[in-house]
Amino acid sequence: MIPFAPLRGGSLEIVCGPMFSGKSEELLRRIRRAEIAGLAPALFKPAIDDRFGASDVVSHAGSRLQCHAIGDPREIELHPATLGARVVGIDEVQFIDDGIVDVVLRLVRDGARVIAAGLDRDFRGEPFGPMPELLARADFVEKLHAICQICTGPATMTQRLVNGDPARSSDPVIVVGAREQYEARCRGCHRLADELDEPLPLAISAFATRD
Ligand code: ADP
Ligand code: ZN
Repeated sequence: MIPFAPLRGGSLEIVCGPMFSGKSEELLRRIRRAEIAGLAPALFKPAIDDRFGASDVVSHAGSRLQCHAIGDPREIELHPATLGARVVGIDEVQFIDDGIVDVVLRLVRDGARVIAAGLDRDFRGEPFGPMPELLARADFVEKLHAICQICTGPATMTQRLVNGDPARSSDPVIVVGAREQYEARCRGCHRLADELDEPLPLAISAFATRD
């Protein structure tokens, strides 16, 4: 449970999970509530994630809020929006370099409630960028699940597809893409091209129309 009032001394909340698990939706929900409470939240995302335009956080379901796109983590603490903010939100935090950890800890030490959302694992299932450190240092962690696009079970993995086939584990980690390239899958249905696995069960049809 996230306490309604900020903790004394600030706090760090992490929202993580695979793609399509609702991380951006949950971050936007918390930021909107901070706005209602008059806490003047500041919202950031790395400039690398330009799928939906430079200055909005947009969820896959279409919900959006204005944000500031940053190239370097230090821009977050130096940004005018952060100066008066008691709540700082960061989306796609896994794409930001390791310097984000110290920036976040300084903001928290100065009394801010920092809420960061990001992929805990990359398409291979390996911990993603600064996430392990952020998760260990967090006061509150929410691990969300999507729906497996093969078997409709709880999906904890992000499947990358290249021309419809599983990617190789040696492929680069960062390729920002949309639904054609990524699927949410459970462990049992997650595949890498260079790992031998049983054939997948027949995908349950009309998945895309389900939520
Ligand atoms: P994330 O930030 O974790 O990628 P978003 O908040 O952007 O997730 O999007 C979550 C929304 O994506 C869901 O509410 C749903 O409308 C949609 N969606 C698409 N594919 C899936 C899936 N496989 N499982 C769950 N939700 C999905
Ligand atoms: Zn599955």
